[in-house]
Amino acid sequence: MKILPLASNSYLLETPEGPLLVDSGAPWENARLLRLLDELKPAALFLTHHHLDHVGGARLLWERYKLLVYAHPLDIPFVGGRKRRPPFPPVLLLGDWIANSARPLPQEALTAPLEGDRVMGWEVVHLPGHTLGQIGLLKDGILLAGDALRVGKDGPVVPADMVNADSAEARRTVGKIARLDVREIYVGHGPKTNPQAVRALAQRLGA
Ligand SMILES: [Zn+2]
Ligand SMILES: [Zn+2]
Repeated sequence: MKILPLASNSYLLETPEGPLLVDSGAPWENARLLRLLDELKPAALFLTHHHLDHVGGARLLWERYKLLVYAHPLDIPFVGGRKRRPPFPPVLLLGDWIANSARPLPQEALTAPLEGDRVMGWEVVHLPGHTLGQIGLLKDGILLAGDALRVGKDGPVVPADMVNADSAEARRTVGKIARLDVREIYVGHGPKTNPQAVRALAQRLGA
């Protein structure tokens, strides 16, 4: 697994069906994304959720490679441009424009996996709260959790309320992750974390 350091971490997974890219940075990082991919053509793109800093390269990669793009059905309306994302940053008038500055994907580009489905050998885990369609990938004790958790210097936390669709649900999701059989957890922002730290967080949250 290769980590591509963009506005959010992107992950490049080697699978028997070809490279699977998880998330695609922000819209202003398209050139950097292509440089980091270094001519490598992903077979598919898995979007953990609809936020701008994860879907920014999706339209470009689809236009170039006509690859399959996976996103949860609850987040597809945002990725496909049929629903507007909540303003981000929430304090600025420009927030609505910024949050929606990623070019939408056409419906034909999108495939909608559900909890328990397999995507190129990885199991899809629904981790709602940060967005309602936030999803992760699980295989061999490794969980890619997207923004279901954020890892700072004091370990994993739930993202701030103002960036979550439903923070109560996001806290319940921490409990769900704590009960998964995993060894390593990789997130959208920050370094990897471990199940012990997530279980401690779940305990503090009563999740
Ligand atoms: Zn993010
Ligand atoms: Zn996010």
